[in-house]
Amino acid sequence: MKCPHCDHKRSRVIDTRESGDGIRRRRQCTSCSQRFTTYEQINTAVHIVKTDGRREPFDRIKLLNGMRVASAKRAIPVARLEGLADQIEEHVYGSGRAEIASSIVGNMVLDGLKQIDPVAYIRFATVYMDLRDLESVRAELDRLMGRA
Ligand SMILES: [Zn+2]
Repeated sequence: MKCPHCDHKRSRVIDTRESGDGIRRRRQCTSCSQRFTTYEQINTAVHIVKTDGRREPFDRIKLLNGMRVASAKRAIPVARLEGLADQIEEHVYGSGRAEIASSIVGNMVLDGLKQIDPVAYIRFATVYMDLRDLESVRAELDRLMGRA
């Protein structure tokens, strides 16, 4: 969703409300801070396909909760996590596909968290990438720190 004022690609949703058969979102550009409104038609749910083949509807709240757990006790503004969730949600619904692999969503969370907070990133990676032992956590840390 490009900002109509400066063409910047990222915006933050500051208000969401139902409007007729769609959703009206008030957005604020993360670059120029100008506000604009978008209208979305309710779409059929996009399903997330897990690695074991199970499907479940994309759930923004669940996504955000996963990020919150990984960010516990870190000084990360909630708005940054919500911004990341918005970005991922936009990608999921904007893809025009009925199904999307959980690995795509997981990688988007990892990429986003990596830029927000390294500890939250490692915590999320530990669960999501199923790093079962200290060795694999260290390997990921080394990779993150450019030592591998
Ligand atoms: Zn802008």
